Amino acid sequence: MNPKTTDTQNENLHADAQAAAKKKKYSFNKLEKRIRRAAGQAIDDFGMITDGDRIMVCLSGGKDSYTLLSTLQYLQKVAPIHFELIAVNLDQKQPGFPEHVLPNYLATQDVEFKIIEEDTYSIVKDKVPEGKTTCALCSRLRRGILYKTAKALGATKIALGHHRDDILETLMLNMFYGGALKSMPPKLVSDNGEHVVIRPLAYAREKDIAKYAEAKQYPIIPCNLCGSQENLQRKVIKDLLKTWDRQYPGRIESMFKAITNVVPSHLADTRLFAFRELVANGIADVNGDTAFDQPKVGDASEFLEEDEQPQSAAQQVHVINL
Ligand code: SF4
Repeated sequence: MNPKTTDTQNENLHADAQAAAKKKKYSFNKLEKRIRRAAGQAIDDFGMITDGDRIMVCLSGGKDSYTLLSTLQYLQKVAPIHFELIAVNLDQKQPGFPEHVLPNYLATQDVEFKIIEEDTYSIVKDKVPEGKTTCALCSRLRRGILYKTAKALGATKIALGHHRDDILETLMLNMFYGGALKSMPPKLVSDNGEHVVIRPLAYAREKDIAKYAEAKQYPIIPCNLCGSQENLQRKVIKDLLKTWDRQYPGRIESMFKAITNVVPSHLADTRLFAFRELVANGIADVNGDTAFDQPKVGDASEFLEEDEQPQSAAQQVHVINL
């Protein structure tokens, strides 16, 4: 073999590898920026964080909570206000829980942290009959412990890692099975009235978080250690949303936009709009004739970012066939 040819081939391979690494870095930076921008926007829109806050960040060891912590750590550095973070993990003593993973990870981060150990697993196993779902009691116990911990730590806010897709899944579950148009609010006051719970990733997309967590190589702790079955209805909805996202670009974005753009006069909740008192007043609506508005049908791609606009003819057909 001609040594010159081999040298050229090696140089080409090196150049290709460099170009690929550059592209990967560029995509990662874009992804990171998108998540940070989404979090910054949600924090601002909902007034989630104020000067002097001490935020307890709940860390389960899943991709969402790692992303939440690192996003808040970044925002803490660049925000014009001062706030503190304390990461908290609740070790529920599930069999096989790798208790060293989170302390090891957190020790490498510049953040205050606390690991709480409470054997809720045994309580749940003891109280819930075999074969019945354990999640309701487990979540209630966890919530109580986290509230107690927040109080003990002097936290003013409790941050959870739920994202846009969790919010949409919950919306659909409530519509399909709960007869209510409600979801997970980005900000709420706890049932006992003592804590403000915030969801800074409310605008972030799960697929972005998943890619980000993979790129960051977070030490993910599996979430099925308790042996409980994943909520079947939620899984069905999740799969449905994922299919729509693939087939109809912009639909999920449009759905999320919808919950930020509620028109009580065009729904049917008499507690939200005084339908009974409604009478013609002879004044034309400045927005034109909206009384018999047809739903907008067609292209939802306006809700996509510029670089996400459908490219292929097949995708464009899906957009039109919304
Ligand atoms: S999946 Fe397991 S750990 Fe999670 S809420 Fe249900 S019982 Fe608790």
